[in-house]
Amino acid sequence: MRRALPLLLPLLLAVACHRGEAPPPPRAAVPGERERMVSEQIEARGVRDERVLAAMRAVPREEFVPARLRPHAHEDRPLPIEEGQTISQPYIVAFMTEAIAPEAADRVLEIGTGSGYQAAVLAQLVAGVWSIELEPRLAESARARLERLAVRNVHLRQGDGYLGWPEQAPFDAIVVTCGAEHVPAPLVEQLKPGGRLVIPVGPLDDQWLRIVEKRADGTTTSRDAFPVRFVPLRRAAPAGDR
Ligand code: SAH
Repeated sequence: MRRALPLLLPLLLAVACHRGEAPPPPRAAVPGERERMVSEQIEARGVRDERVLAAMRAVPREEFVPARLRPHAHEDRPLPIEEGQTISQPYIVAFMTEAIAPEAADRVLEIGTGSGYQAAVLAQLVAGVWSIELEPRLAESARARLERLAVRNVHLRQGDGYLGWPEQAPFDAIVVTCGAEHVPAPLVEQLKPGGRLVIPVGPLDDQWLRIVEKRADGTTTSRDAFPVRFVPLRRAAPAGDR
C-alpha cells in the first residue's frame, strides 16, 4: 500500500482539484509528445479545425525523420531529411492543411513530397493525395515509408511539380511545400473553380505563404499569410541537358 501511495496521490489531488465540471471527452491515446506538439505549438497558435488537429495527432511524425533525429521529431522547427531538404515545422504543416479547408471527398495535389509527412497528414482528411517529388531518392524513400505505414490513398510521382499532374487534374486543392519565385501557371490551371492553393512565394530571404482561391468564374484572389522559409522549388533540367 505504501508503494501505491505516490501513484495515488496525484490522482487524488487531480480529483480534489476538479471543480465539478464534466470530465473532458476521452481522446485517442497518443504518445505524450505528439499531444503536446498539437496543443502547445498548433492549437496555441490558432489552428482550430478539429479534423486537422486529429490528423496531426494521428500521424507518427517520428517515422518521417532520419533515425538519429527521432528524439527531436516533435520539436517546434523544421528538421533536415535526406538530399539537403527539410520536413516542415509541425505548425506550418497544420496551418497549410487548414488553409486549404480539406473536405472528405477532395482530391489534393502536393508539390514536394520530401519525407511524405505532409502527404500523410492530408491523406487522413481527403479522398486522395497526388504528390510529386523532383529528387528521385526522396521519391523512392517516401514511397517505401508510406507503404510501410499503410497509407494507401497517396499517389506518388517523381518529376517537376512546376508542371502539376495534368492527367489527374483538376484538383480541389493544391499544397506547394517548396518556395517558388511566382505561382506556377500550370498549378492555377489545374485547380477547380472554388479550389484553394497554398504556396510559399518569393526569394529565399523574403518568402511569404500565399493562399490563392480560384473563383467560380476562374479568376483568382490571393492573400499573404506570414513570412516563411522553405527550400526552393527547383526546375528539372530540360531533357537535352541531361
Ligand atoms: N512536404 C515535405 C517537405 C518537403 S521540402 C514533407 O512533408 O516532408 C520540399 C521538397 O520539394 C524537397 O523534397 C524538394 O526536393 C522538393 N522539390 C523542389 N523542387 C521541386 C519540383 N520542381 N517539383 C517537385 N518537388 C520539388
